[in-house]
Amino acid sequence: MEEDMASVKGLTTEQVKKLQEQYGKNALIEEEKESIFLVFLKQFKDALVMILIAASIVSAVSGNIESTFVIILVLIVNAVIGTVQHVKAQKSMDSLRKLSAPKSKVMRDGNKVEIDAFDLVPGDLVFVEAGDIIPADAKIIESYSLLVNENSLTGESNSVEKSPSAEDMSDLPLGDRTNVVYSGSLVNYGRAVIQITKIGMETEIGNIAKLLGETKEKMTPLQKALDSFGKNLTIVILVLCALIFGIYVYHGNSIMESLLFAIALAVAAIPEGLNPIITIVLSLETQKLAKQNAIVKELKSVESLGSISIICSDKTGTLTQNKMTVKKLYLDAKVLQETALQAENTTHKMMLEECIFCSDATETVGDPTETALVVLAANYGHDVQALKEEHPRLSEIPFDSDRKLMSAVYAKEDKYIMYTKGALDSLLPRLVKIDIDGEVRDITEADIERIKLVNEKFAEDGMRVLSFGYRYMKSKDITLFDEEKYVFLGLVGMIDPPREESIQAVAECRRAGIKPIMITGDHKITARTIARQIGIFEEGDLVLEGVDVEKLSQEELIEMVPKVSVYARVSPEHKIRIVSAWQSLWKICAMTGDGVNDAPALKRADIGIAMGITGTEVSKNAASLILADDNFSTIVKAITIGRNIYRNIKNSIGFLLSGNMAAILAVVYASFANLPVIFSAVQLLFINLLTDSLPAIAVGVEPGNEDVLDEKPRDPKEGILTRDFLQRISLEGILIMIFIVIAFHIGLAGGNALKGSTMAFSVLCLARLFHGFNYRGKRNIFAIGFLKNKMAIAAFFIGFVLLNGVLFTPALYKTFGIAALNLEQYLMIYVLAFFPTVILQIVKWIKYR
Ligand code: ATP
Repeated sequence: MEEDMASVKGLTTEQVKKLQEQYGKNALIEEEKESIFLVFLKQFKDALVMILIAASIVSAVSGNIESTFVIILVLIVNAVIGTVQHVKAQKSMDSLRKLSAPKSKVMRDGNKVEIDAFDLVPGDLVFVEAGDIIPADAKIIESYSLLVNENSLTGESNSVEKSPSAEDMSDLPLGDRTNVVYSGSLVNYGRAVIQITKIGMETEIGNIAKLLGETKEKMTPLQKALDSFGKNLTIVILVLCALIFGIYVYHGNSIMESLLFAIALAVAAIPEGLNPIITIVLSLETQKLAKQNAIVKELKSVESLGSISIICSDKTGTLTQNKMTVKKLYLDAKVLQETALQAENTTHKMMLEECIFCSDATETVGDPTETALVVLAANYGHDVQALKEEHPRLSEIPFDSDRKLMSAVYAKEDKYIMYTKGALDSLLPRLVKIDIDGEVRDITEADIERIKLVNEKFAEDGMRVLSFGYRYMKSKDITLFDEEKYVFLGLVGMIDPPREESIQAVAECRRAGIKPIMITGDHKITARTIARQIGIFEEGDLVLEGVDVEKLSQEELIEMVPKVSVYARVSPEHKIRIVSAWQSLWKICAMTGDGVNDAPALKRADIGIAMGITGTEVSKNAASLILADDNFSTIVKAITIGRNIYRNIKNSIGFLLSGNMAAILAVVYASFANLPVIFSAVQLLFINLLTDSLPAIAVGVEPGNEDVLDEKPRDPKEGILTRDFLQRISLEGILIMIFIVIAFHIGLAGGNALKGSTMAFSVLCLARLFHGFNYRGKRNIFAIGFLKNKMAIAAFFIGFVLLNGVLFTPALYKTFGIAALNLEQYLMIYVLAFFPTVILQIVKWIKYR
């Protein structure tokens, strides 16, 4: 009894609750989440941290207990910062994952509702259609031309036909069980109602997941590049430190002391913060992207966003509003306004019938093309819902974007009628007759010419045109071979206005050196008209059709693509060729897609973009970016943010490296000039802690500005550490070093070695804090907006307070190697530390006036 109810009305909320308690969530168990404590412990396994631990032992052995204490403190604080960053990054990725979680249409409490596939339970009745991913293992209750691809389970790349059957197939091999479907398979064609049998780890794919075990986190390309740079740099620094150790010993310092110093120098100079900062900046910034409706699935795509130079976008719904309205019809060889149909006219009546019966939509839900047709019929007083219930559909061949037709069979009087609608190019070759004022006669060349002409005229006005035909059948069962010998009924032209934001977004693309391209299944002329309205099509551009693409060899296509701004009547496999052609020209190419067959093109593109609202689960699965609002302008916003993120990360790296450079150069100078120790080991550790964390992140999260759109897309072949960039870092390092050395000499002259070291240390600290502001953007700090980045201000003040805490707490003097400064000296450190920033700001002001 309960089973029966479920098969009609689905499960009730109570049943679901019970089942959920019993079976849990429909999810493959993710890797065990690391506990925070484990994450904390992991912070200690870094090579540098090992060095530090060694240093603390050295320090303890040499009787310098304060240093040991400070080193341990530094280690702990470092680990805490690392842990916090890790957890934050994790959280932000988790929330993103939730945003892109798959959905399912399911029957619950007698209603069809959409829920997270996560919340499915055994017994649920689920509706699946072309483009869906089967959410759990299930048996088929009802099916219409269902084709399922089970490649992920069976390795078989061809789709399998599936239909309900009472037979027990559990003894057959997986691939031969045609009355069940498995979690993770793709619905390639048709639709079905399925009843869930197993969820989560109990499913076949769950069993495989158990075997496969954990997946490793991957580094982004930027991280990989920096990782290898960091390794080389580490070697250079270690050699330098060894040299300095030698010099110190040579100058008569104890081996223990010299060793400690050399280790501290290594810690301060090696930019161990680079990779963690990239992770934290990327993951924080993905939240910004999500707020703008761009959901990124992998951190590495955030990096590529900034170098996109080609956007291939769908038309319908992405560039246009996807709100279709019928405007004109062509019936009885006459063009009519949508309001001019007459109730007593047989062809008019037939047309409205076909609008109702040959579509799956209702007035409010469904494919907008079909909604427009249903609304037209409703406007003439038809109760669409009632009619559909009264006249059940007997069979159908669903629409697909290759065939561009849809057919449905109904009983009419004592016969069967097949209604077919679709693109005129697809229907035209299948026409044999024409219906004019209820009279059916053979179709003539002249009829065809006129139909084509009207089709073009409608298309020139930017309308999507659907053609309608019908034929009477002996049997209600139809196959693809029955889609022929039609009677032509008429044409329907509908408008789908461009989104208002599209025009501006296209203009921004051009400003940013990005070429926008429209790829659509629609008619060539419709596409060109809309593309012209939006600004994608400019005079002199070419429009190619899918058939043209087919005729070209890949070499010819590569030569052609730069001139083409619109592709019409395109099938998914053409999209792959277009992306590949651009990639052969070394362009980073973004491609949107929503359909079942778009997945390969989305995977092929550098950034595959799926539609959050109308996209199929398959396309979302294949994409690296999901547009929550289906909107083209969101792509441009995402690119702007992507470019900003890249710039910020680069700035963060520059900030870290130039500061470290200043420190190491100052040490090198003091050692070779045979001067006293310029920084104590503890001071170096303190600086490392103070400036490598918060200020670097603050630079990394600088709010974006529109300026980035004035630049050309970043050349993907160009690494981040260009010659110019390294040169800039070196010059800044030298500049800061000069003022440190001046401070050192003033201190030495004004008292003793300790005073010199105190002044040099203070200037290094402060100058680096000031230097953070130099890295907030290209232009001077006032042009950027001094207060715009609150985190930068906060980071500066925290550093400032901590430094003064050390300078004014005599109890810390011994540990840090500090001597009390007089007022003059104290003011002097501010002047000296501020100088490099003043110079750099003036240079910026002159350069970008
Ligand atoms: P885009 O790639 O810009 O989103 P599109 O999705 O509008 O294009 P398709 O949906 O593949 O392209 O439609 C291509 C053509 O198929 C349309 O021009 C129309 O003639 C026809 N068509 C669209 N929807 C239907 C439908 N539901 N039934 C029958 N034919 C349709």
